[in-house]
Amino acid sequence: MPLSTRYRGRFAPTPSGPLHFGSLVAALGSYLDARAAGGQWLVRIEDIDPPRCPEGAASTLLRQLETFGLEWDEAIMYQHTRGDAYQQALDQLIQLGLAYPCSCSRKQWQAFDIYPGWCREGVCEPDKPLAWRLRSDRGERPIRWQDRLFGEQQFDPAELGDVVLKRKDGLWAYQLAVVVDDAEQHITDVVRGLDLLDNTPWQRQLQSALQLPQPRYLHLPLIVTTEGQKLSKQNLAPALAEDERGVRQQLFQALAALDQAPPKDLAFEPPATQLHWAIAHWSVARLNPTPHRLIPLLPPAGD
Ligand code: GLU
Repeated sequence: MPLSTRYRGRFAPTPSGPLHFGSLVAALGSYLDARAAGGQWLVRIEDIDPPRCPEGAASTLLRQLETFGLEWDEAIMYQHTRGDAYQQALDQLIQLGLAYPCSCSRKQWQAFDIYPGWCREGVCEPDKPLAWRLRSDRGERPIRWQDRLFGEQQFDPAELGDVVLKRKDGLWAYQLAVVVDDAEQHITDVVRGLDLLDNTPWQRQLQSALQLPQPRYLHLPLIVTTEGQKLSKQNLAPALAEDERGVRQQLFQALAALDQAPPKDLAFEPPATQLHWAIAHWSVARLNPTPHRLIPLLPPAGD
């Protein structure tokens, strides 16, 4: 395969806390897809929002990846170091007439589902702090792509709204950062949770505006609690195991959540053995295109 089309995947966690079972499943899916394709798998720490990222969280989650045998290639990219690249991309969008400054606060447009674009033709209150927004009604529309699991997708980004690219407090927003960095790292395949499917239209719109290559997308089913809620730090998703038995069991459960039907005995094997089996047997075709998987019952911590 020529270098430019060689598979390059990534796991791009926000270090707002330790990984939980849902993030393990996303990491594992992207790892297996990359390794089964003989490709590279990178880790990028999406720490653009320091107040949301407690100190030490990034190193904790990297240690968790290692504990589960998920070894990455190349140096880790940290988004907090990438401000200049994001500014360059924003400048390009401004020049193209695709980004504009906005003084409006969420409170001012709370009666609307999406920001109504009041600052599009000129800032409403120029003396206030300004955010930068994408002109989602310009550029490529509608956005279409083929998700590798959920099939044909079509969205009109204008119906999703003028997403923020740079915040009023000067912090960079996820949509711009992810697009710039996926291109910088030559990512060919984005494999991540289904919660990000409806972010993809903005990302593809930005890629096309900035003339960046468009990766393939595979969105994975989300792990939900019995109440049907997505696992998150907020609803106290159980922590990942650290003990050997728990790690083996959770890795096995993550393979099962990805519909890979691992043989029962694999649950007692160390991560390297489980991953060896899983890479050899990885099949996206086996994934069921239903949005949710119930969290398996995990043994209580310390058990
Ligand atoms: N940083 C994002 C998150 O933790 C994921 C980014 C991505 O995979 O595109 O939800």
